Amino acid sequence: MRANFLLSVLLFSFLTNSLFAQKTYLLRPDRVFDGQESHENWVVLVKNEKITGVGPASQLTADSQNAEVIDLKGCTLLPGFIEGHSHLFLHPYNETSWDDQVLKESRSFRTARATLHAKRTLMAGFTTVRDLGTEGAEYDDFGLKQAINQGIIPGPRMIIATKALIATGSYGPRGFSADITIPQGAEEADGQDLIKAVRSQIGKGADVIKIYADYRWGLNGETRPTFSTDEIKLIVETAKSSGRPVVAHASSAEGMKRAILGGVETLEHGDGGTPEIFKLMREHGVALCPTLAAGDATSQYRGWKKGTDAEPERIKNKRITFKNALDAGVTILAGGDVGVFSHGDNARELEMLAEYGMRPIDVLRSATSVNAKVFHQDNLGQIKSGFLADIVAVEGKPEIDISAIRKVKLVMKNGMLYKD
Ligand SMILES: [Zn+2]
Repeated sequence: MRANFLLSVLLFSFLTNSLFAQKTYLLRPDRVFDGQESHENWVVLVKNEKITGVGPASQLTADSQNAEVIDLKGCTLLPGFIEGHSHLFLHPYNETSWDDQVLKESRSFRTARATLHAKRTLMAGFTTVRDLGTEGAEYDDFGLKQAINQGIIPGPRMIIATKALIATGSYGPRGFSADITIPQGAEEADGQDLIKAVRSQIGKGADVIKIYADYRWGLNGETRPTFSTDEIKLIVETAKSSGRPVVAHASSAEGMKRAILGGVETLEHGDGGTPEIFKLMREHGVALCPTLAAGDATSQYRGWKKGTDAEPERIKNKRITFKNALDAGVTILAGGDVGVFSHGDNARELEMLAEYGMRPIDVLRSATSVNAKVFHQDNLGQIKSGFLADIVAVEGKPEIDISAIRKVKLVMKNGMLYKD
């Protein structure tokens, strides 16, 4: 018994040592954006999975630490980007419609794709994703997360929602004969049954509970609220017992209002937000993930020739509501609803946040320290001693030209180099 125990301890330490054979690195870029501010001529020391030193080059040397020096001339070092809204189990709708992905693609096919999506996301410098629902692929995000965490495949660390919750009859795919039951893109539950649905998703691995507070199920196909405020409160109360937050897809003013009053922590999309709603968000400390890139992508899939045609009403409106959110002082998250457009093109949302009126340095803050704080990731999103060594180096100065984030030269996650 005891010998067996010792053997398994030895085996475990062998496995962990070989899996995480990390070193000590001294990273020497032109400057470091620490999640808040930029510092010229700073260097960063990484030991095993953590950042152990940050500061002026004169104060940190490689010799005393036996560190491998990585010169990153012309580069800015930043915390690994955090994608605020992805669906690794979806791929762009101009390749295959959402309905067809849910109904015609097998889960094995979708998982095979998801592994590639995960790799592309990481290589683009996004070392963490908040993945907000498998959209019909059951709990397969949990297995994907396990495979990444065990080092079997490369990918970002994942904060997962599993199936997400919808009010019965409100979601899709829809438009079929009432005589047949069509698989849905999320789990249907209502009233008191929501307690069991929330708990079972948590039991199957959900880190966050995602709900659809409204959807296009109005009499004429318009967006209308789904859950009542009381139902949302019940979901939040149930999830909170386990320490998990609830986040809501919400595009209409009424759907947003119910979600805010129900106690959710973040709103996704928010296209129909009014100045009053954004004021309410600010008062309740609810953050907005505007997913600008998703609307931009779907408008183009519907025929809009960006740069040639005039902007469609939807885009014009989005610019106005986003500005209203900024003016109201709502916390802005960086998250594009990736999956609607290509995984690995996550930079698109950051570029659009700048295009729609945020200062590039505020965009960088959103994609690092702000996302980390709102997502309860206390050791991520900053280049700071003691924090996990999730680091990206890009060529140029993204605080001046945000598109520099596309020129990724180095990606490190947990102190391991994925791109050098
Ligand atoms: Zn989404």
